[in-house]
Amino acid sequence: MALGLLKSAIAGATATHLPKRPALKPGYDVVIIGAGGHGMATAYHLARYHGIRRVAVLDKGYLGGGNTARNTAVIRSNYLTEESVRFYRDSVRLFRELSNELDYNILYENRGQMTLAHSDSDLRSFRWRAEVNKELGVRSEVVDLAEVQRRIPHLNCEPNVHFPILGGLWHADGATARHDAVVWGYARAACRLGVEFHPLTEVTGVEVKGGKVRAVETTRGRVACDTVVQAVAGMSSEVARLAGIDLPIHTYPLQAMVTQPYKPILTPLVSSPRWHVYIQQTSRGEFVIGGGSDPYPLYQTRSTLELKEALCSGITQLFPFLAEANILRQWGGITDMTPDYSPIMGLSPVDNYYLDGGWGTWGFKATPICGVTMAELVSSGQVPELIRPFALERFYAFEQINEAGATAASH
Ligand SMILES: Cc1cc2nc3c(=O)[nH]c(=O)nc-3n(C[C@H](O)[C@H](O)[C@H](O)COP(=O)(O)OP(=O)(O)OC[C@H]3O[C@@H](n4cnc5c(N)ncnc54)[C@H](O)[C@@H]3O)c2cc1C
Repeated sequence: MALGLLKSAIAGATATHLPKRPALKPGYDVVIIGAGGHGMATAYHLARYHGIRRVAVLDKGYLGGGNTARNTAVIRSNYLTEESVRFYRDSVRLFRELSNELDYNILYENRGQMTLAHSDSDLRSFRWRAEVNKELGVRSEVVDLAEVQRRIPHLNCEPNVHFPILGGLWHADGATARHDAVVWGYARAACRLGVEFHPLTEVTGVEVKGGKVRAVETTRGRVACDTVVQAVAGMSSEVARLAGIDLPIHTYPLQAMVTQPYKPILTPLVSSPRWHVYIQQTSRGEFVIGGGSDPYPLYQTRSTLELKEALCSGITQLFPFLAEANILRQWGGITDMTPDYSPIMGLSPVDNYYLDGGWGTWGFKATPICGVTMAELVSSGQVPELIRPFALERFYAFEQINEAGATAASH
């Protein structure tokens, strides 16, 4: 790891150097819809580890122009259910080695994450999560107020505030990485292995015959294929509908914002489910601040004053000095929310049409493990054990994986 990073530092470059856009062929073995982190990671693993290289990744926009470049880069694995903890734990492990794997510096930084407890019931649920996490090899522990204060000296821990802090869930594995570097790194590595990336190529239809996918219709013509992987995040239900598949997903905007830079004072990621905000300081010194989704379903990336006000009121309770900070930027993405706040991965009712969606507000951290598992599924036709619990059928079998509490404002 250290050697790889040193090499990147000396090379100094994180340039993408993708090959020139090739002509779109009439057919491929695999078409991947969506050139975000998930689509590109899947393409890379297909080419590198399964020898499947007649792969085209189609995107209606540009590389990483969806949520991959809009998220706040929180990486963690301190979920509540065993199924999720195992899955995100393996993703975090892959993230640690990703710069070396891709020969591309993704600026991975292990900083720890503190989720603040403002009530006894918060502490009770944190204890439950910590026990599940520890059992599965994830570093989480409940800590008292003194330890919270020690790790985050600028946090307002006074008792006479609206929601006093009682303690926290400390997750030593919490981390960040440069989000767009992740998709650039996967794209560069995949294209070097022969994968084709086609920007400005929107999928407008899916041809299904005899229950199996045969081709996709695009704004640049028909493309025949044996297999399709759909990895379109906020557009999941719309694109699945093209193949006649109904997904239990509602799409909501999710916004975030960033302040002017300050000197480095905050190492860990901090989140408060009660105030519904989270914060981290970037290596440039800016504070990235986010919270929950907008309260109405919409396909819209516009940012709103209401959300900014809500984030500001919460975050200045926790870090009063930020009342003086200027907001530099605010932005939004669209998130595909499932009823149980867990993804939908694997088979669909259409043969050879595979789903990687329902990532809502939490899918960046899953990028590497999605690449591994989706590629394995495409190449073998067998659903890997790790993603079996996230099958679409769980909604019909009443086997939901409820992560609403552990997702909340932490992403
Ligand atoms: C503000 C915000 C903060 C977030 N913070 C975090 C966080 O801290 N940690 C975390 O883990 N997750 C976070 N997320 C969620 C995370 O960003 C997403 O879950 C993740 O990026 C999904 O990646 P993806 O590759 O599946 O999709 P995307 O990166 O969205 O890529 C999908 C691609 O599909 C393309 N597409 C859509 N329709 C079509 C079509 N018909 N034809 C062709 N192409 C199409 C789009 O143009 C897009 O490029 C956040 C999201 C937002 C919006």
